[in-house]
Amino acid sequence: MFGRAPKKSDNSKYYDVLGVSKNASQDDLKKAYRKAAIKNHPDKGGDPEKFKEISQAYEVLSDPEKREIYDQYGEDALKEGMGGGGGGHDPFDIFSSFFGGGSPFGGGGSSRGRRQRRGEDVVHPLKVSLEDLYSGTTKKLSLSRNVICSKCNGKGSKSGASMKCAGCQGSGMKVSIRHLGPSMIQQMQHPCNECKGTGESISDRDRCTQCKGEKVVQQKKVLDVVVDKGMQNGQKITFAGEADEAPDTVTGDIVFVLQQKEHPKFKRKGDDLFVEHTLSLTEALCGYQFVLTHLDGRHLLIKSNPGEVIKPDQFKSISDEGMPMYQKGFMKGNLYVHFNVEFPDSLTLDQVKALEGILPPRPSQQMTPMELDECEETTLHDVNIEEEMRRKQAQAQSEAYDEDEDMHGGAQRVQCAQQ
Ligand SMILES: [Zn+2]
Ligand SMILES: [Zn+2]
Repeated sequence: MFGRAPKKSDNSKYYDVLGVSKNASQDDLKKAYRKAAIKNHPDKGGDPEKFKEISQAYEVLSDPEKREIYDQYGEDALKEGMGGGGGGHDPFDIFSSFFGGGSPFGGGGSSRGRRQRRGEDVVHPLKVSLEDLYSGTTKKLSLSRNVICSKCNGKGSKSGASMKCAGCQGSGMKVSIRHLGPSMIQQMQHPCNECKGTGESISDRDRCTQCKGEKVVQQKKVLDVVVDKGMQNGQKITFAGEADEAPDTVTGDIVFVLQQKEHPKFKRKGDDLFVEHTLSLTEALCGYQFVLTHLDGRHLLIKSNPGEVIKPDQFKSISDEGMPMYQKGFMKGNLYVHFNVEFPDSLTLDQVKALEGILPPRPSQQMTPMELDECEETTLHDVNIEEEMRRKQAQAQSEAYDEDEDMHGGAQRVQCAQQ
């Protein structure tokens, strides 16, 4: 039952559980469910887990829409659709609605007494580094949970007996009345505080010595949370039935939701990784070589080809050095290197002269002194163009607003004149 990573999509389990073929008709399903559910009902000594499986299988396959999803994508797809592994409906509800509300065993009283509720799922965020998701890891987490007291088997008493709670006459609920005004009252129902809604009380002398009548005791438990290679931010790892236990309750799940921490160097997009690298102008023009330490500690040597020039904002990709793909063996995404080029702010006149001697000549634009004489001199200013454009846009908007006002005013004037 220990929650490993979700299995590969399997879409034959439900058919196997009911013992029918994949093209079974609705009638076949009904017959198979009736037979299996009666045989495995916990009231008849059946295994509750098996009974739950049968109900789940029937609930899905008897609904054409759900059956189609299951046939195509398997169980996990349905769980997602049902809102986070909620696991559908109470198996006892499905059972009794199948038999039209009555029990096929005759008599109203079931030996189990109260119908089983489903306990709440416990959801924990689990922070993981990009390194963890790249290489996979196992996190040991210590949690404390309620388990059914082993001494009294969850009865709370030594004798196994309980009395009706005096506070609520065994109903578990209390009704209080509020007067809202003359001849106006409001009835409110809330769980009984004396028995915490259970409807039972245990006499002091009969109280279980281990759980003091609480029916459950605290237990520390260490969970091994297996984070698989390539798992995504937000992915869930579920430990089915590991949440707090309570009497007459199907235990909920513990669910860990992965939260990927920001990485100082690598950015992740799906299965790909992105890394920024800044080159000096000399490196961009004359060649570069650098070592990138990958998420698993390997050193990648990244270098240019002879004579190759890197331009600002250019990307290069390295195949199969991205993230491992989840449950896809050794397949990996790409690693993209985004280059920045740092230009010098200014050059000395000697440097300019030297460069001009080496670099390709300027585009020729021959002008006679006469032609130059006819030109006007200009002055260039430094400018932050993004800021400049934002300012212009704001200005244009406020002017458009003013114009609107004017038009409106003008129309009114026309109206006045017509009257
Ligand atoms: Zn009570
Ligand atoms: Zn106990």
